[in-house]
Amino acid sequence: MNSWQIGNVRITKLQEQELAWNGTMILAQGTADNVKREGEWLQPFVDKQGKFLVSIHSLLVESEGRRILVDTCVGNDKNRPGFKDWTNLHLPYLATLQKAGFSRESIDTVVCTHLHLDHVGWNTMLENGRWVPTFPKAKYIMAQREWDHWSEYEGLPDFKNSIDDSVRPVVEAGLAELVETTRRLTGEVWLESTPGHTPGHVSVRISSGGENAVITGDMMHNPIQIAHPDWICEFDNDPRLASDTRQKFVERYCDQAVRVLGTHFAGPTGGHIVRRSGAFHFEA
Ligand SMILES: [Zn+2]
Repeated sequence: MNSWQIGNVRITKLQEQELAWNGTMILAQGTADNVKREGEWLQPFVDKQGKFLVSIHSLLVESEGRRILVDTCVGNDKNRPGFKDWTNLHLPYLATLQKAGFSRESIDTVVCTHLHLDHVGWNTMLENGRWVPTFPKAKYIMAQREWDHWSEYEGLPDFKNSIDDSVRPVVEAGLAELVETTRRLTGEVWLESTPGHTPGHVSVRISSGGENAVITGDMMHNPIQIAHPDWICEFDNDPRLASDTRQKFVERYCDQAVRVLGTHFAGPTGGHIVRRSGAFHFEA
């Protein structure tokens, strides 16, 4: 289990699964050759065959007595015919939370960085044939702009179904709070607007006791995009805006004492953006 102390804030990685995927499933340029060309700095985030290691995890942020769960992975029992790795799972995610000391009832806030299927799955669980909120005492925070987009969405069936089985039930239960993309959650934690991958996509900023961190969300998927912010993700809703957001993010956090925690970064997950001989790299 990885965890980080940022001033008074504790952040804990709660992993649901880790997969090795051909990088080209995410980025057209994510070929094994391009991976090998990057060299050693990228090694913790790829395998020996040059595939991307893709971690699916939540990050639990403890701040000022609050327990804020950022993203809820793929979930169990969900039917996702277009994503074989993610259909009808029976993974011990809730046991992982429990083992780390977090009961479902103790989570008071869930943040969805965006409403893609691998970020909202554990928003709900199957109980007597019905999808019910997994975290009954939590407010589920999502950007108004994000909900407006997805609640009307009529495209890929799996993306649409995940709204119906993992997001709509928490909205209908009155647990969703639709917010601006810069909403402050505590004195130490706030949302930062990082649009492009989806229209209302947010990252999560943490600042406490002079220490700083940022949780990326899917503004990027693998640290190779730090070196190449212009490489477009297959699932970027607005590729040009996504690329522009990534470029600005990399420049803003480069050579700063800000720990970057990648929502899909495997292995060490956290590190710093640095400039080495004119190129951007990620140092775990
Ligand atoms: Zn994702």
